[in-house]
Amino acid sequence: MEFFGAAERTEINDVLETGILFRYNHEAQRNNIYKAREFEAEVAKLVGAKYAHAVSSGSTAALCAMAAAGIGAGDEVIVPPFTYIATIEAVLMVGALPVFADIDETLCLSAEGIRKAITPRTKGVCLVHMCGQMADMDAIMAVINEHNLVLVEDAGQAMGASYKGVSTGLWGKTGAYSFDFFKIATAGEGGIMVTNDEVAYKHADSYSDHGHDHIGSNRGMEQHPILGFNYRISELHAAVGLVQTRRVPEIIKSNNAHKSQLMAALGQIPGVEFARIPDTDGDSATFLNMLLPDTETAQRVVAEMNAAGIGGFNYWFTNMYHFINQWDHIKEMRTASTLPIEKFGAPQDYKNLDIPNAQATIGRLISFGIRATWTSEEVATLASNIEAAIRKATLVEA
Ligand SMILES: *Cc1c(COP(=O)(O)O)cnc(C)c1O
Repeated sequence: MEFFGAAERTEINDVLETGILFRYNHEAQRNNIYKAREFEAEVAKLVGAKYAHAVSSGSTAALCAMAAAGIGAGDEVIVPPFTYIATIEAVLMVGALPVFADIDETLCLSAEGIRKAITPRTKGVCLVHMCGQMADMDAIMAVINEHNLVLVEDAGQAMGASYKGVSTGLWGKTGAYSFDFFKIATAGEGGIMVTNDEVAYKHADSYSDHGHDHIGSNRGMEQHPILGFNYRISELHAAVGLVQTRRVPEIIKSNNAHKSQLMAALGQIPGVEFARIPDTDGDSATFLNMLLPDTETAQRVVAEMNAAGIGGFNYWFTNMYHFINQWDHIKEMRTASTLPIEKFGAPQDYKNLDIPNAQATIGRLISFGIRATWTSEEVATLASNIEAAIRKATLVEA
């Protein structure tokens, strides 16, 4: 949410003029204003999807993506231990059983990690493209195809990123993006499910609105092919989301220039490495992702950076809720009611997971949010401030 201005206001005002805040019906009053539809068209165009369906959040987009991909009760779904918790919640909400697999230095599930986690009950994989980057898709698709698995992508943090020209979110059966306040583009709250599969699209469309099929002009009086719930987006949110989506290519271009500048400067420092980017041309570059030699060093560096007011964070030591060491409620299956997982049995021992790379990598990781609005002078100053913090923390002479 870095650029916000007149265009967003104009689109919102279109909606306020008619007073029709609901995406369906009211043809006579709405003056042909359909912001949710326009929002979907913008996202489809940006990422090259055949179909896009807007919903209330990135979390509900992930849930719709899961359901529309046909994942359901008792299915094992391979997930990463490093993601926002919403990924795991979406798996549990469709009644499926999350199976945690290992990641690699891309910060995403690795092909090897996925392969090791496959059992006869594995239905699919929910791959998460973390920190604005992308997973190693060639290797992952080989395992997906070899084992005939359903791939769902939670690209909540990576809208606009791609691998070899194909957008994150479009490698599998279905994908999801988030438009919450912290993502590359925001609608305040909102999400989009994308797919190239017509049936999956229709299922997501119905699933997000109590099963209505939305055929014809009178929603409410049509057919209800499947069970659903209410995950609808409002016209006001969609109005903001569609303008924000148009801004994404410009943001990505600027982010990449800043990230290259930072990596060139900081890559010179002994001990500083970066998370692996399988296709640097496809990076959305929302984060600089540094890897320090070990967890203790990373902790010292991030403390120095924070003391100097530079920012930057380590997912292991903050309670940011992105790593499995902060998910005790899931390990202990604590809910307000009952999870299907309790009926089917846990598919693995959640308290003793075999995820050595995740444990070795997340503690070493320092992520740093990149702002498209920076000037290259500001980036240069930032690079030298980060460098000073690293040298101070590691006692490496300049
Ligand atoms: C932000 C995020 C979500 C959730 O999106 P909301 O719009 O906040 O519901 C899901 N998955 C990932 C990977 C995210 O980063």
